[in-house]
Amino acid sequence: MMTASSTSLMQRVCAVPLARAARTRAMAAASMNLSTTTSTTTTTAPSLAKRADPQVLLGLSEPELQQLAIDFSQQGYRGKQLHHLIYKRKIKDIQDFNQVPLAFRNELEEAGWKVGRSPIYQSVTAADGTVKLLIKLEDNRLIETVGIPVKDEKGVMRLTACVSSQVGCPLRCSFCATGKGGFSRNLKRHEIVEQVLAIEEIFNHRVTNVVFMGMGEPMMNLKAVLEAHQCLNKDIQIGQRMITISTVGVPNTIKKLASHKLQSTLAVSLHAPNQKLRETIVPSAKAYPLSALMRDCRDYFTETGRRVSFEYALLAGVNDAVDHAVELAEVLHEWGRGSHVNLIPFNPIEGSEYKRPSKKAVQAFAAALENNKVTVSTRQTRGLDADAACGQLRNKFQKSPLPVDSDNLQTDEDAPVAVVC
Ligand code: SAH
Repeated sequence: MMTASSTSLMQRVCAVPLARAARTRAMAAASMNLSTTTSTTTTTAPSLAKRADPQVLLGLSEPELQQLAIDFSQQGYRGKQLHHLIYKRKIKDIQDFNQVPLAFRNELEEAGWKVGRSPIYQSVTAADGTVKLLIKLEDNRLIETVGIPVKDEKGVMRLTACVSSQVGCPLRCSFCATGKGGFSRNLKRHEIVEQVLAIEEIFNHRVTNVVFMGMGEPMMNLKAVLEAHQCLNKDIQIGQRMITISTVGVPNTIKKLASHKLQSTLAVSLHAPNQKLRETIVPSAKAYPLSALMRDCRDYFTETGRRVSFEYALLAGVNDAVDHAVELAEVLHEWGRGSHVNLIPFNPIEGSEYKRPSKKAVQAFAAALENNKVTVSTRQTRGLDADAACGQLRNKFQKSPLPVDSDNLQTDEDAPVAVVC
């Protein structure tokens, strides 16, 4: 989740002109039994082409796309073309691959292949340029993705995509809107990757940073997260160091992640300096004691050489006292050196009793950490955070069944309260 500020900022909910109504593809839904077609593909025994579902191009690497082309009796360079069309040109429909022979396009579709891009259901833009998207997946479920543009001192724009890894979240952290909306399912690799492409398209700018801080717990969908990570790095060319995976801690997963020796940042959502308090804020902490989590973080650093960053949502009167900061510094020093803490002042959510601490309290907490030799950053408030947190926009729409027809979208007049991750 990416935090927020003044309620005066106006968020607009744009009816989704961007959403291209999904073309009905009877052919695409057709079975893989190519022997009923008269095309030349009947003679091939395609390995990738015969892959079990989903037959989605997005997420495949260049060598895989080359193999796919070969499987369809095409020359290998066609795979390179596919790669360019999907990742550089960001084309969403196989029929729009104009450079590719029509016969090949048709064969791909007949065999059930598609690009794997979903329509944007809602788009909310804050005065500061932050954009939140609701993406509508094939099964009508909605996920949130946020694009956060920041200009550095030299005026160069950094564009961060805050992506979801699950539809909802099973972990129910007490202050998080996503958990309150329940859990539906894990996202597939292409559903993670497409969020980044959607942000690039909206901003007409390349995404420079990706944070897995949207809906869901990435470590509970580690396989797809790692596959998406590889695609973002190799195919979309986002540096590993520009990618952050955030977790509240799931037993046995940090070790697994460490074994991949990624150069990306692991962020751990701590929210409390001791087990007793943490359990009250993060119910899943009962199954993963703080000492075990901290040990795994230490081992992660030993194995990867990458320092873990700690997130701490500040909840007024709950975990925001200077004493908590001092205790937190002690814990961090006990388990490592030079830790970094990212403070996130609570972003109010509907129906929550938690309150955002005053600026003064946030500053005092940060100062206490610094005085105890812990580096701190306080998450910058962004316009979209004004009224709500990650998961809230989606909860609003997911309450009632979505219209089947993706053209039947909400208009500006129906604008829900603004939100952010
Ligand atoms: N499940 C992962 C990623 C999800 S959210 C995790 O827990 O790390 C990313 C960050 O936003 C987490 O640190 C999460 O605790 C925090 N967060 C969620 N809702 C929030 C809210 N309403 N206010 C402040 N921080 C919040």
